[in-house]
Amino acid sequence: MNNYKITLLKGDGIGPEIVNQAVKVLDKAAEKFGFEVTYDEALLGGCAIDATGVPLPEETIAKCKASDSVMLGAVGGPKWDNQPGNNRPEAGLLGIRGALGLFANLRPSVIFGPLKSASPIKDEIIGDNMDILIVRELTGGIYFGERGRKEVGGQPAAWDTEQYTVPEIERIARVAFDMAMRRNKRVTSVDKANVLESSRLWRETVIRVSKDYPEVELNHMYVDNCAMQLVRNPKQFDVIVTSNIFGDILSDEASMIAGSIGMLASASLSGGKLGLYEPIHGSAPDIAGQDIANPLATILSVAMMLRYSLGEAEAADAIESAVARVLETSRTPDIYEEGMKKVGCEEMGDLVCAQL
Ligand code: NAD
Repeated sequence: MNNYKITLLKGDGIGPEIVNQAVKVLDKAAEKFGFEVTYDEALLGGCAIDATGVPLPEETIAKCKASDSVMLGAVGGPKWDNQPGNNRPEAGLLGIRGALGLFANLRPSVIFGPLKSASPIKDEIIGDNMDILIVRELTGGIYFGERGRKEVGGQPAAWDTEQYTVPEIERIARVAFDMAMRRNKRVTSVDKANVLESSRLWRETVIRVSKDYPEVELNHMYVDNCAMQLVRNPKQFDVIVTSNIFGDILSDEASMIAGSIGMLASASLSGGKLGLYEPIHGSAPDIAGQDIANPLATILSVAMMLRYSLGEAEAADAIESAVARVLETSRTPDIYEEGMKKVGCEEMGDLVCAQL
């Protein structure tokens, strides 16, 4: 029987509550689909600052590296707002992504049928099965390029650099094509090749990588057009691959199409088996400890972990179907609609387990 070692970084605020529900669902999936899971906990964020003085202790990095995958809740909160920038809880988050070499960020934007009305986009535009996967390059581009201040024509000015190497583009393109092969075999590469030289290299490289995936249909789109097409006709997309800065903006846009922040999962991958899985929302200090947080984004992150890191696709599908069935009758307060049963975080976890 396969045994997977998972490191839990529960973090701060609602982190522990939502991760506990995800663990419950993972245990249930293990029992049903015949695998075992061993957990180890480590400190990240504010709780790590309280216990050790730093947001990312060395022990946490070592534990994560020794595991098959990492499950993260969320970090941060007002208690640590006065820490210096490099010792804030969020610095731990950037640090762990760097330490684990997580260069690919995957954000699905999926609408569960019963939640259609939560989307700001009209029903007829979304259709019945909007399912987009945004693959964003996470460790290169303008966020990591050289920058500085200077004087131009006697006036103060500032500059940042967008730079990508061919190997950086190749590896993110491969992630996108590999994902498309498991999905609807379509990749849209998003760039600004009409203006930017770095985008022209991006496009050439993606085209070259595409030759290794003859079954996948590739098209290219300028980022300004993509921003428009996401709200005009989101159904046209399967996998979108793009640079760090364009992905940052487009993935937030795409996530709003799906409605509530409490529903959105994400994965960050290193190219190997190890990945870090987390909801996209923060630690929601305003509702922490009240048993009202929505644990579904974290539970859906578990499904991504099973699919992308552990090779348990059947269990992943089952969790996603269970979530869809539960949403037909029961909701946490953030996605509540009249006529539904209002449930708390813990009960939502129990209902997903029961449906599994
Ligand atoms: P947030 O995502 O924590 O909360 C925004 C709003 O959404 C709040 O009203 C919150 O109650 C609600 N919300 C979020 N998740 C929810 C859930 N699962 N169920 C129900 N409601 C939910 O963003 P914020 O308030 O800007 O940030 C709070 C803290 O989280 C800050 O310290 C911030 O730096 C940190 N943060 C962490 C991460 C991360 O760990 N990945 C991401 C974003 C923000």
